[in-house]
Amino acid sequence: MLSPPGAGKGTHGRWLTQQTGAIHISSGDLLRDEVASGSHLGQQLAGYTARGDLVPDDLIFSILMPAVIAAARETGGYVLDGFPRTMPQALRAAQLGAELDLTCDAVVYLTAPEDELVARLLDRGDRDGRDDDRLAVIRHRLAVFAGETAPLVDYYRSREILLELSTDRPEAEVRADLRAWFEARGLMRSADGKAPSRRLLSSPQQLSHSRPAEPQPG
Ligand code: ADP
Repeated sequence: MLSPPGAGKGTHGRWLTQQTGAIHISSGDLLRDEVASGSHLGQQLAGYTARGDLVPDDLIFSILMPAVIAAARETGGYVLDGFPRTMPQALRAAQLGAELDLTCDAVVYLTAPEDELVARLLDRGDRDGRDDDRLAVIRHRLAVFAGETAPLVDYYRSREILLELSTDRPEAEVRADLRAWFEARGLMRSADGKAPSRRLLSSPQQLSHSRPAEPQPG
């Protein structure tokens, strides 16, 4: 899920996991859990997330990779929500994917007008009290998206795995478009609940023959 803050990657990502049998892995949720744990690492992370700055790549990879490896073993697939967010993350993920024989079948790019994004995030801030859902931090996160993350759109479009969808319309319409696109690629569960005809990832068993899961520095 590759989207600006507030576009609905959490909502639609969770729905996609139900439909595909994949596991939902949200980098933001993993970071917030670590912050809430009060660990030393969590204290380091809190500064970045509260300001709306990106967390350094090495920290992101060390937090994310164990979840990705476990998901690949358990279900053969996952929906990554909030990662990758920069070109260096995307390139390093592609390299790790090649080493671990994990493939990326789809990149969903959700869009909405900026005013709508801001309104949704302010609303969520009132409801859930997330400390980065305040106007100044929201504006900064949108600027970080435009500068760091938006270039990934062209990168994935050129690899022909990008689905771009507006979420400025009823949720049911967004879901219908997601379903049609994923079904056309054999990535949805069938109506009887069977796993997708095509795995979201190639054989997870191959992971055990691969190099150690921990990402290498640099
Ligand atoms: P949103 O997309 O609404 O900003 P997320 O939960 O995806 O919410 O991310 C919240 C924060 O977590 C980001 O502002 C950033 O500080 C950090 N974060 C999440 N994913 C990444 C990532 N892949 N790389 C660096 N920082 C990240």
